[in-house]
Amino acid sequence: MKDLRINPIKNGTVIDHIKPGTALKVLDLLKIDVTENKEISVAMWAHSKKLGYKDIIKVEDMELRPKQVNLLAVVTPNASISIIRDYKVIKKFKVELPSEIEGIVKCENLNCITNQREPVPSRLLKVGDEPQNYRCFYCGRDQENITSNII
Ligand code: ZN
Repeated sequence: MKDLRINPIKNGTVIDHIKPGTALKVLDLLKIDVTENKEISVAMWAHSKKLGYKDIIKVEDMELRPKQVNLLAVVTPNASISIIRDYKVIKKFKVELPSEIEGIVKCENLNCITNQREPVPSRLLKVGDEPQNYRCFYCGRDQENITSNII
């Protein structure tokens, strides 16, 4: 996709520097209701001087909360968030891996209580600074690839 220009938005959120090809996963994680009457622009594989390629999402009339946003670090650790009001960026921040991930990433241990027929929701705790440093709260298993275990 080349030279796609997305119009500036008046009020809303811009998620930039998304890992190329993951924008739809990001929308899914954010649980943005696409049936609502909101303008959402998605650019995938846009050229980026810094990263080579990136995805971008713009959502009108919605300001993301930090809790929603930090989940994104699991799929796209370099994403940056800009909150726009009246065409101006009033807040800009990078996503950070959350100290705890509940319910959205499966534990890798198939015998874990969170993977049983009547499972309890998964709960992973951050135990280091690398993107994959998470440990299951219930069985203690160190996770190897949380990105591929998103529910
Ligand atoms: Zn576990």
